[in-house]
Amino acid sequence: MPQTLRSRFALTLAIVVMLGATTLLWVTPGMTTLALWLLALANLAAMRGIWPLACLLAFGVLGMLAPGMLSYLLPEAWLPTASWQRLAEHFLPDATTETLRAPLLTTVALQLTALSLILQLRARLGAPLLSASAALLLGLQGIEPALYPGFSPLLDYATSWPVLILHAALLTAQVVHALPYWRGKRRYLAVTLWSTLAVVGFSLLLWQQLHLHAERALYQRAETRVQTLATQLSREITAHLDAMRRFARTWELQSTPPSYAQWVQQAEGYQKDFDYLINMAFITSDSGIRQVYPATPLNLSTLGLRLFDAQPAGRRALEPALNGEREGSTDIIQLLQGERGMIHYLPVKNEQQAPIGAAAMVISFPQLADTLFKQLTDAEGIIQWHSDEQILAVYGDTRHPGPWIYHHQVMLGDKALTLSDRPRRNYLLSQLPRLPTLSLVLGLTFAYLVYLVIYSFKRLGYQHRAMLQSNTSLQQEIRTRSQLQREIEWLASHDELTGIPNRRHFLDHVSAHRSKRPLSLALFDIDHFKRVNDQLGHLVGDDYLAHIALLGEALMEQHGGIFARYGGEEFVALLPGLNMDAARKLADTLRLQVIDTCLTHADGKPITLSAGVVSVTDPQPFDMTRLMQTADKALYRAKREGRNQIATGGIDD
Ligand code: GH3
Ligand code: MG
Ligand code: MG
Repeated sequence: MPQTLRSRFALTLAIVVMLGATTLLWVTPGMTTLALWLLALANLAAMRGIWPLACLLAFGVLGMLAPGMLSYLLPEAWLPTASWQRLAEHFLPDATTETLRAPLLTTVALQLTALSLILQLRARLGAPLLSASAALLLGLQGIEPALYPGFSPLLDYATSWPVLILHAALLTAQVVHALPYWRGKRRYLAVTLWSTLAVVGFSLLLWQQLHLHAERALYQRAETRVQTLATQLSREITAHLDAMRRFARTWELQSTPPSYAQWVQQAEGYQKDFDYLINMAFITSDSGIRQVYPATPLNLSTLGLRLFDAQPAGRRALEPALNGEREGSTDIIQLLQGERGMIHYLPVKNEQQAPIGAAAMVISFPQLADTLFKQLTDAEGIIQWHSDEQILAVYGDTRHPGPWIYHHQVMLGDKALTLSDRPRRNYLLSQLPRLPTLSLVLGLTFAYLVYLVIYSFKRLGYQHRAMLQSNTSLQQEIRTRSQLQREIEWLASHDELTGIPNRRHFLDHVSAHRSKRPLSLALFDIDHFKRVNDQLGHLVGDDYLAHIALLGEALMEQHGGIFARYGGEEFVALLPGLNMDAARKLADTLRLQVIDTCLTHADGKPITLSAGVVSVTDPQPFDMTRLMQTADKALYRAKREGRNQIATGGIDD
C-alpha cells in the first residue's frame, strides 16, 4: 500500500474507533471504555504528530489501569476485591467490580497497546512485540467461552464484543501507522518477533491452565460451606427428635394424662435447648389441644382447638400418633402461629401402653434457620432453605451473586429439604489465588526481555558483519591504492617503453654517488637508428630499443652501475668504482653484446652502437654538466670516426 494511502487508512480507522469508543463510553461507562477512549485519542494525537499529548494520554491509561492490575496480583488483604464494587457504586448504582477494575486480559491488552504507543513505535524497544501480544490477548478474549466447556467461569477476564472489536480496530490502526517505522528493521524483526511471540503464547496457555485449575479448586472448596451447614442441620434434627421421643416417653410412668404443671415442668427444659420449638402441646385423643408450652398468648389462644378441624392437613400425621401406632410429621404448613413450619406428633401412652394422646412439637422454620445461620457472615453469599418450590428461609446478601450454586439435601423426619448456597462473586474472587496472574505477568515480562536481548544480539551481529565487510573492502581498497601508488612511482622513475630507469631516476642516482671515486659515465647512441624506423617501422624500432635497454641494464647492474634511457635512442650508464679503462671495456662489452643479439637493419647488417665514456678520479670535483658534455663530445667523436666504437674523453680536455 502506498505511504499516503496507508496513513489515510490508519487515520480513518482511528477516527472511527474514536467515535465508537465515545458511544460505548456513553452507553456503558467504566474503566474499560474510558481507557479505550483515551487510547483512541492518544492514537489520533500520534498520527497528527503530537507526540507529547499521545504519550501523556497513554501514560494516563497505564496509570488508570495500574491499581486494577495490582489488585489481580497483590494479596487480597492489601487491596480487597470488594472495595472495587463499593467504590464503583459511589458513581454508578448498578456498578459491578469490573466497572472500575477492567477484566484481567482486557487490562493487560490495553496496557500493552498503551506501552507500544509510548515506545513511539520503536522496533528496538519492543513495540512490535507489545502490539502482537495485545493482538494475541484480544484473540484469547474472543475465544473465552470455548476455554471453559461446561463450567461457568468466576473471573470476568474478557470484555464485551463491541469493546473487543473497537480495540482490535484501534490496534490495527496503530500497527498500520507504525509499519513504515518497522520496515527497515525487518532483518532483525522476523526471528525475534516469532520466537518471543511463542514465549507469549506459552505464558498465555500456562495462565489459562493454571487459572482454570484454580477456579475448579475454588469451586470445590466453596461447596464445603453448604456441606457443613447441612451436617449441622441434620445433627440438630436428630438431636431434637431424640429429645422429643424422650419427652413423649416420660408420660408412660403415670397412668393419667399430664397436668398443666407437669407439662410445663417437663417442656421447659426441652424448650430451652431447642428454642425453635415454638409450641409443645399435649393433644388429647379427640385431637383437642389440652396443654401448651410456652404460654404465649398465641399458644394459649389455641387451647381447646380440635386439630382435625383447625388443621386438617395435619390429620395424616396426627391420627397414627393418637392411635399410638407411630410418630408422624406434617408437611410444611402454615402454622397457627402464623409462620411456616412443621409439626411432629409423637404418641403418648400410659403405664399400660395404652394411647392417651399425642405430643405435638411445633417447629418454626424461620427460627430454626436463625439458630443455624447466625454463625454465618452474610458477605459470603446467600443460603436458601427450601422444600419443593417453597422457600423456607433465606439468609445473606442477595446482591451480586456468584455464578456457582450448591444444593444439599437434608432429611427432616421423612421430609427432604434442600439447602442451597450461592456464594457472592466478590467473596469468591477474594479467595482466588494470585499465582496464575503472576505467572502471566512474569511470562510477558520474560518474553519482552528475551525480545530485547535477541533483537540487540541480531542487530549487533548484523552490524558486526557489515563492519567486517567494510573492513575487508577497505583493505582491498588500500591494497589497490598502494599497488597504484607503486605503479605511479615506478612510472615516474622508469621509462615505459623499455622498463629501465628514466633520466630523472638516473639523475637521483647520480647525486647519491657523486662523491664516489673513481666514477665513470658512458653515453650510448644507437647507430643509424632512423633507418630502422624508416625501413622496418617504428614498432620494430621500439622493440630494438627495449632489447638493447634490457641488455644494458643487466650488464651495468652486474658491475654495480645503473643504466637508464637518456632520451630517444640514447642511453646513459653511471658506473661508480670503475675507472676509465674498466668503464670503456664495459661499454665495449655492451657494444659487442648488441651486435651478438642479431638485431639487424633492413639490409641484414647488425645494429651497432657508439659510446662516449668519461671518468672522474680523485681529486677531481664532480660536475654533472661537464661530465655529460665531455661524454657527448666523446660520443660525437665515436660517431664521426665511423660509429660502432667507444670513444673516451677527459674532463680536463
Ligand atoms: P646516428 O648514427 O648519427 O646517431 O644516426 P641516427 O639515425 O641514429 O640519428 P639520430 O641519433 O639523430 O636519430 C635518432 C632517431 O631515433 C630519431 C628518431 O626517429 C628515433 N627515435 C627516437 N626515439 C625513438 C623511439 O622511442 N622509438 C623509435 N622507434 N624511434 C625513436
Ligand atoms: Mg641520437
Ligand atoms: Mg643514433
